[in-house]
Amino acid sequence: MPEDVYMLIQNKYRDLQKQAKEASDRKIAILYHDHPQLKSITDEISSLSGELIKLTLKRQPQSQIDELKTRIDELKALRQQYITDNNVDMSAFVPQYLCPECNDTGKLPNGTRCSCFSDHYAQIKFGTADMSILRRENFESFDLNVFPEKAPNGTPQREQMAHLKSAMEDYCNTYPEVAKKNILISGKTGTGKSFLLNCIAKALSDRGIPVIRLSAYKMINELFSKYIDDSTDFDAELERICETEVLMIDDLGTELMKENFTHNTLYYILDRRAELAKATVISTNLNVKQLEDKYSDRIMSRLFNTRTTNAIQLSGADIRLRR
Ligand SMILES: [Zn+2]
Repeated sequence: MPEDVYMLIQNKYRDLQKQAKEASDRKIAILYHDHPQLKSITDEISSLSGELIKLTLKRQPQSQIDELKTRIDELKALRQQYITDNNVDMSAFVPQYLCPECNDTGKLPNGTRCSCFSDHYAQIKFGTADMSILRRENFESFDLNVFPEKAPNGTPQREQMAHLKSAMEDYCNTYPEVAKKNILISGKTGTGKSFLLNCIAKALSDRGIPVIRLSAYKMINELFSKYIDDSTDFDAELERICETEVLMIDDLGTELMKENFTHNTLYYILDRRAELAKATVISTNLNVKQLEDKYSDRIMSRLFNTRTTNAIQLSGADIRLRR
């Protein structure tokens, strides 16, 4: 992993911890404002505790130390009584970390890396690597005028695109509360698939949702080379792909068919992501018939699960010829 990405992730964790701590401090301030008595008891406990340390260090008579200890215990009991009597919500004192597994440290108590690490990695890597494209191609810069009003076959292409644009914006704004998490966009080259995918990637990333975007070709190639190296990298990469919140696969159908490997891996990814209820957004140049010829029934059943997938067919003229 390049050093700078690693450093960015560490900074991200530091920021998240700081945010959680500050949010907790704000809640505590409000709580003490509402319960001044609780604050004064707490302040007294901490000031007496400081005194106790001093007395102990100065080797003062044990009787004096014991007396102070008793006073502190009484105050603690009083504090607890106040909390119970007034039904005080003490959750303010527990910082709410984004990842409760690792408290935004990236490390689990047993020292292993937390699963949120790969989300941050994906988000940071994705964000820095593709920023230039995403700055150009996003919902704000989406110009419906590049689409002809009517396609050669007579379908109202611009109107269809306007409709699709607003549906996809809704999807991005409301994710994960969407009726169907998966999107399959098919259409010939130049009908705006990749532009649409860029818009979706940008809008989701802007909302802080981890997105990994890969071409099908690259995804399968990289997995395959790790697979034949027999390295643990294969498991890690497969896990990263399966577990990211949103996986975008460009140009399904362009990947190389490495005997059973491609089919099995593709099925495993789609199936695992369905199981985890994570979103998979796919673009392809192939039509349904071509997909059927290329993929097994079980892959097709994952791709075209109408319960979980929005299948979108882009038709019409090649807009690149109009630009
Ligand atoms: Zn974590």
